[in-house]
Amino acid sequence: MAEREWFEKDYYKALGLTSSATDKEITRAYRKMAKQLHPDTNPGSEEKFKEVSVAYDVLGDAEKRKEYDEVRRLGPAAAGFGPGAGNVNFGAGNFADFGDLFGGLFGGRRQRAQRGADLETALHLGFRDAVVGITTTVTLPSDDACHTCGGNGAAPGTGFATCERCAGRGVLNDDQGPFAMSTICPVCHGRGGKIVTPCPSCHGTGREPSARRVNVRVPAGVVDGQRIRLKAKGHPGVQGGPAGDLFVDVHVTPDARFARRGRHVTTTVTVPVTRAMLGTTVEVPTLDESVTLKVPAGTQPGTTMRVRGRGVPAAGKHAAGDLLVTIAVAVPTKLTKEQRAAAERLAAALGDEEQ
Ligand SMILES: [Zn+2]
Ligand SMILES: [Zn+2]
Repeated sequence: MAEREWFEKDYYKALGLTSSATDKEITRAYRKMAKQLHPDTNPGSEEKFKEVSVAYDVLGDAEKRKEYDEVRRLGPAAAGFGPGAGNVNFGAGNFADFGDLFGGLFGGRRQRAQRGADLETALHLGFRDAVVGITTTVTLPSDDACHTCGGNGAAPGTGFATCERCAGRGVLNDDQGPFAMSTICPVCHGRGGKIVTPCPSCHGTGREPSARRVNVRVPAGVVDGQRIRLKAKGHPGVQGGPAGDLFVDVHVTPDARFARRGRHVTTTVTVPVTRAMLGTTVEVPTLDESVTLKVPAGTQPGTTMRVRGRGVPAAGKHAAGDLLVTIAVAVPTKLTKEQRAAAERLAAALGDEEQ
C-alpha cells in the first residue's frame, strides 16, 4: 500500500469524528474502535487498527493535535514539507517508536522517512561560566549506525534467525484486561529476528562503539534549569528524515559569594557599624578582579550599591548587567569597659536616650 502523506490523512475521519471533537470524545472513540479492531480478536483488521492507532497517537496528544490542525489549515507547504517527503514530524521521538512497534507487529518495517528522536543531556556549569558564557563539549552515547554491520548488529555475511520468544512478530501481547496492548519483544527488540553471530565491532548493538562529542555554545547569562536546544544534534533520521534535536539541561553550581538577579550579579559586603556612620571604602569581589567601592557616611544597613557592567556581559539586545552590592552592617557583640564608655558618650552626643 502506498503511503499517503500524513497531512492528507483525515485522522478525525479515521476515528469517526469531525475536527470539532473534544479530547474526551477522541479518547472514547479510540477505545471503542481499538477494542473492536484489535487483530487478536478480529483477524484481518490490522490495517484499520493501525490507522486508528496512528490517528489517536496524534489526536490524543494536545500538542500534536494542535500542530496537525495547524498544518491541515495552512496546507503542507506552510509547514515546510515538500510533497513526497512523507515526514511525520511531531517533534517527539515516541512517534517514531510507535511506528517501529507497528512495523514489527504487522510485518515489514516502515520505509517512510522519519525524524530522528530528540536527545537530552545534562550540563553542569560553574557560577562564573553561566554568567559570562562558555563553549564546552558534552559527550553522548553514539547514535551512528555501526560501520562494520551497517547498523543491523549482525556480523557481515551472517543472517538472522526467527526470534523464538515472539515467533518473529517483534511484539508480545499482554492479555490482561480489555485493552490488551502489545509490548516490544525484549529478546529481539522488535526486530522479529535474532542475530546469529553478533557484529565484532558493536557486539550486536548496531551502534558505532565510540561516544559522540557535541560542542555546546552556552550563551552568557544562562540560569539553572535552562534548556539549550541544539537543532539536528539528536538521533539521526531514518530513511532520509531529519535528525532530532539535542536538549541540554543546564545546571548551575551555586556560589558562596555571588547570586543572580536576572542579568545582575548580587553580593554582600559587611562594614563595621562605625564605618557605616563615618563612611569608608571597601574592596568588593567581582567575577573578575575586585573593585574599590566608596561607602558614604550614614549608609543604612541593606543599602544596595551598583557597580556598573559587572554582571552578565552585554549580548544582542541585552545591555550588560551590574553587580549589586548589598551593604551589611556589623554590630559588635561584646564591648570592653572602655569601648562601652566610648559608646555611651557617643550615644549621649547623638541624643540617643535610653528607653
Ligand atoms: Zn522477539
Ligand atoms: Zn556492528
